[in-house]
Amino acid sequence: MAEYLTHEHDVLVIGAGGAGLRAAVEASAAGTKVAVISKSLLGKAHTVMAEGGIAAALANVDDRDNWRVHFSDTMRGGQYLNSWRMAELHAKEAPACVHELEAWGALFDRTKDGRILQRNFGGHRYPRLAHVGDRTGLEMIRTLQDHGIHLGIDVFMEHTIVSLLKDGDRVAGAFGYDRERGRFHLFRAKAVVLATGGIGRAYKITSNSWEYTGDGLALAYDAGAGLMDMEFVQFHPTGMIWPPSVRGILVTEGVRGEGGVLRNKVGKRFMFDDIPPLYLNQTADNEEEGWRYTQGDKNARRPPELLTRDHVARCIRREVREGRGSPHGGVFLDIAWIKSRIPNGAESIKKKLPSMYHQFKQLADVDITEVPMEVGPTMHYMMGGVRVDPDSQMSDVPGLFAAGECGAGLHGANRLGGNSLSDLLVFGKRAGQYAACFAKEHSAGSINLAEVEAAERKALEPFNREGGEGPYVIQYALQDMMQELVGIVRQDDEMRKALEQLKELKARSQRVGVRGHREYNAGWHTAQDVANLLTVSEAVTLSALERKESRGAHFRDDYPKKDDNFAGFNIVVQKGAGGEMKLSRVPIPPMPEELKQIIQEMK
Ligand SMILES: Cc1cc2nc3c(=O)[nH]c(=O)nc-3n(C[C@H](O)[C@H](O)[C@H](O)COP(=O)(O)OP(=O)(O)OC[C@H]3O[C@@H](n4cnc5c(N)ncnc54)[C@H](O)[C@@H]3O)c2cc1C
Repeated sequence: MAEYLTHEHDVLVIGAGGAGLRAAVEASAAGTKVAVISKSLLGKAHTVMAEGGIAAALANVDDRDNWRVHFSDTMRGGQYLNSWRMAELHAKEAPACVHELEAWGALFDRTKDGRILQRNFGGHRYPRLAHVGDRTGLEMIRTLQDHGIHLGIDVFMEHTIVSLLKDGDRVAGAFGYDRERGRFHLFRAKAVVLATGGIGRAYKITSNSWEYTGDGLALAYDAGAGLMDMEFVQFHPTGMIWPPSVRGILVTEGVRGEGGVLRNKVGKRFMFDDIPPLYLNQTADNEEEGWRYTQGDKNARRPPELLTRDHVARCIRREVREGRGSPHGGVFLDIAWIKSRIPNGAESIKKKLPSMYHQFKQLADVDITEVPMEVGPTMHYMMGGVRVDPDSQMSDVPGLFAAGECGAGLHGANRLGGNSLSDLLVFGKRAGQYAACFAKEHSAGSINLAEVEAAERKALEPFNREGGEGPYVIQYALQDMMQELVGIVRQDDEMRKALEQLKELKARSQRVGVRGHREYNAGWHTAQDVANLLTVSEAVTLSALERKESRGAHFRDDYPKKDDNFAGFNIVVQKGAGGEMKLSRVPIPPMPEELKQIIQEMK
């Protein structure tokens, strides 16, 4: 008989990052009883690391900006596989969401006349990112959590959800344990919002935090929801590469937004060598024009360093493979050079990029005001996730919602920097609003005790396997394999090999053993993570095999071109009746004429 503590709420939000907190605030403001659950301490969710800013067409720095330009930039960045409805809602609603955050006490850097300052970022036509130095995520979390606590949200920190509970088709709650004591908890809820973030820990080199083990995606998949766009895994072009202990840590795009340039080992700005046709008209064709753009010249076009992340990452990979890389296998990112252009350059770098300055000084003993940084691609963001209705964020499972990085749709084949923090605000808010509506319109579902017992038994299995293989060995093997075989450049035979290895790893994971007791047992926590990572890795690999073209973040050596035959659908993965992973091609609904026209106008 399962032993657990029971909690009852109208809306249960799993995840205390930007999306989860924003959803919780909205559901609570709508008068429902809300709980938020987080694997880490409140205030420590991955969002806290976000640096560059929140994309919103406030038009404070360039008055030519508006939602139509933001919409078209987002669609172009996503190579038109985005949910156009989500891109429309996002572009229209992001400015009000930023102002709302400001009204709740968030600090922002300011223009001279006191408005929220906005900076340049890759793929955005105008300076669009509202920011606080390079610590924007921290400010967002601080503000949302203060606001949420005052609304009376219940918070369960350091709790891990291992299973969603259903009543027939609909969701009825979730089951998990507290990490401190290892006690089980049953959360009954009329509606559940997944806001668990991404899957970065499926890869060896990543900017993502330890929490990013794809839990929400695996929970939703097991509950019957579809996962969409799983082939689109974003590799950020600039992660630290040296020393090895810090490999993967992000170097914000803000460095390039402030004038930083990429050079190879002979000092050449190689990004001018390859500008994709889709961006030719919008990109500077000489260094002088690029510099003027970063300094706010409205007549200049952006430098090629600010092209989309997928493209910049592949150009860096090309330089390294062709022998023009830096000593540790990356390229050079130089912000120190701006000292030759502006007075007090070193002070300006420290003021605008304080975290970057300290990060390199403390972790690599490099003074970025004096010498270039060594950088290379790092797995950064998951465009794919739980398939949701664009307006309400409800998944295929009634009562189950998803928002933030664990949801899919807004970004299509490639996310623009800054569009995640705005995604969290816009769709976190919508998820909270519609989850509250669902909770008001439905009574609580009944809990199937056999389902609870099965979840508890499964969670405890690793303790019963004395001498079983440790979970870390499997996690490391998986990370090596995904990095090598389903990474930044893919091909058919390698991905088939990956599927074979996934099968073996899955079998090994079912024999995994942990020792000790349930209190703060990191091995036990990792055993749960590994199962989720295996599910999402299989979904990534199968979807990547199915998309036989190169588009956005998905690049195939064996199909290096974009193919119109793959332009009209998203790939969705769902659990089949026999427990197998089923793929389908889901056509993208036709775009309304007025949105088509916007895209035409902005070309
Ligand atoms: C270094 C870095 C810098 C970035 N900078 C920017 C930027 O400037 N602008 C931008 O737009 N984007 C940026 N991003 C991306 C952006 O930060 C993330 O996409 C975003 O913060 C994700 O927020 P979220 O609310 O979806 O998830 P998170 O903030 O990751 O929150 C996930 C929550 O879910 C909880 N959770 C997970 N699994 C479980 C479980 N099983 N049970 C209970 N709780 C669980 C976690 O504990 C956590 O509380 C950056 C990313 C990184 C890594």
